[in-house]
Amino acid sequence: MTHSTILTSLRNIRLLTLMALLSWVPGVHSLAADEQFNIVVLFADDLGYGDLGCYGHPSIRTPHLDRMATEGLRFTDFYSAAEVCTPIRAALLTGRYPIRSGMCETSGARRVLFPNSKGGLPPSEITLAESLRASGYATMHIGKWHLGIHDGSRPLDQGFDSSLGLPYSNDMDARPGLPTGSTKSATPPADGWNVPLLRDGKVIEQPADQATLTKRYTEEAVRFIRAKKSGPFFLYLAHTMPHVPLFASPQFKGQSRRGIFGDAVEELDWSTGEILSALRAAGLAEKTLVLFTSDNGPWLTQGAQGGSAGLLRDGKGSTWEGGMRVPGIVWMPGHVRPGVTSQPASALDLFPTAMALAGASSPAGVTLDGRDLAPLLFDGKSLPSRPFFYYRGDQVFACRLGEWKAHFRTQTGYGQPKPELHDPPLLFHLPHDPSERFNLAAENPAALAEIISAVERHRAVVIPGDPQLK
Ligand code: MG
Repeated sequence: MTHSTILTSLRNIRLLTLMALLSWVPGVHSLAADEQFNIVVLFADDLGYGDLGCYGHPSIRTPHLDRMATEGLRFTDFYSAAEVCTPIRAALLTGRYPIRSGMCETSGARRVLFPNSKGGLPPSEITLAESLRASGYATMHIGKWHLGIHDGSRPLDQGFDSSLGLPYSNDMDARPGLPTGSTKSATPPADGWNVPLLRDGKVIEQPADQATLTKRYTEEAVRFIRAKKSGPFFLYLAHTMPHVPLFASPQFKGQSRRGIFGDAVEELDWSTGEILSALRAAGLAEKTLVLFTSDNGPWLTQGAQGGSAGLLRDGKGSTWEGGMRVPGIVWMPGHVRPGVTSQPASALDLFPTAMALAGASSPAGVTLDGRDLAPLLFDGKSLPSRPFFYYRGDQVFACRLGEWKAHFRTQTGYGQPKPELHDPPLLFHLPHDPSERFNLAAENPAALAEIISAVERHRAVVIPGDPQLK
């Protein structure tokens, strides 16, 4: 080879490398306007902010979620839209604060639905499943529902073509003599749980064999992905774990360094790996947006059977950060820019983001509370700051705007009978003080005033729905 041929070859190699790199840089391609992307939501139950390896847990191993976070976008400031199970599920599927659908605690009501509750997600609410189905999507619900068991509120009534899962939490309908799973060791329950497993609304097993649920949900999800690979589809997989009582399959039980809680989380991690592999194998990785998140923070009163909010204060049930800031990972190789973002986002953003990926508009005449995250996900753009309201039941307890969060009321998730009222409100700078320890209200009147007026504007226009949890 002459000197000049070598140079030409080197130049060609460099050019080819550059072209390969460019075609690889995620986000440089805008999404094709006529393409409908699949949507997969992987929703853990009571998984805390600190419970995954990629969020700093020292002993729970989550290699599949860690890889998903490396290939996708990991949010440091991702919020659920409520503090407990039923309201957050209503918020996720409607894109609205639960007060609007009536799916939250009101005076004298319970905090979530129970087997004997009469209410449920009203048929008048337009769910993401209904909206995507109207745009030609196949829709499937797998896992915990917890949005009602009566006509009009069940999965098949709310936009899902098919459904496999539990109608409510795995710790409901206690009966003697049934498997108990692991709950707080100091107070072992005498009874087990008679919760049924339903397929398309019909009981197929009672009590559900909880140790097998994560595995069976996963197999069902993989079957659905393979069957619907011509797309588009929406898969909503709301895991039962790691909500107490904890169970894990024989393959995972006793295997983690974090006890049965770690076993359950490591099985969820395996499940995520199986689902992402199925998407890759079907050639759908670049056509499917996957969101992994949790419904609320860890159930701290369960002791070692509950998870961890890491640095964040309190857990499930509260409007301190630990109750509502949760893991949030978005993945779609080739489109979602890999990295870590500290821009706040929430489960409320799923609805408008998914509609944009379906090439469809959000339902007319419906107030949605989130926004389309596409500019952030695909182009790394900063989104303007906006208020986020931390509801406990039908009350705004706190509000975040930019880096500041004000608390009007505080109450620990469980065990404090009445809220403490704060006038003036407490004010925390979340990046400096993620554990909400140092009240800076006196030094920052302008930041506080801005939040107070955002809350007043919000309260003035929110129309509460008929209470469903009485
Ligand atoms: Mg929960």
